[in-house]
Amino acid sequence: MKKPAKPARENISPSDLTFGLSTCKRCLWIKYWHKVLMPLTMPLVGPLSSFQENAFRGVTTQAIDPSLRPGRVTKLGEFVKSKPLVINGESTRWAILGKYDLVAENEDGTVALIDCKVSDSPRDSGDFYSPQLHAYTYALEMPATNRAVSVASMGLLVWKPNRVIGDSAESYGFGVAQSYVPIERNERAFITVMADFISVLEGPCPDSGSECPTCKYLTARLGLED
Ligand code: SF4
Repeated sequence: MKKPAKPARENISPSDLTFGLSTCKRCLWIKYWHKVLMPLTMPLVGPLSSFQENAFRGVTTQAIDPSLRPGRVTKLGEFVKSKPLVINGESTRWAILGKYDLVAENEDGTVALIDCKVSDSPRDSGDFYSPQLHAYTYALEMPATNRAVSVASMGLLVWKPNRVIGDSAESYGFGVAQSYVPIERNERAFITVMADFISVLEGPCPDSGSECPTCKYLTARLGLED
């Protein structure tokens, strides 16, 4: 596939460090060099995320999890952009741009970064989302324009639907089991992920992977055309 003189976008989305990296890298490469995105249909994700995030507006960190430093959720769904990433001492053209879920301001002046999930998946253990949360932290601590803040903690706030509540059409809903999953800082692992990610982007267009069925479908479909 042709590689233009410049990428169509130079801002790396933190979510691409999770789902984007978990399949083959060809779609990622096409997204950044040509701004062509694979269509996704996830109609419930937006409303569920919004319900969950808004439920924590102004809530204390102690109510979320006693392990967190004392503070209160003050920011919901704000965009953050980093300075260009520096990998192994070298500045790159790539920056991080994304919208975090919750930020709590701690009484000691630091912040807690909290990522909301409505999910029942083995991925919620934290390792899978670690690069994504590190990316937001990088952007909060090395911002392109805003004031830098110190991120004292990162974690997932998981709602796992586990029962039906209510007894009428007006009151039915889903009950959830809530858990907070702390994610430990590991700068070295994050820089390794970013170095690999950027080396994929700067290289030639990768081949299609074997696990994702979409390209197989597209190839079969194109074979049917006259
Ligand atoms: S196999 Fe094809 S559709 Fe699937 S991730 Fe790779 S390039 Fe994208």
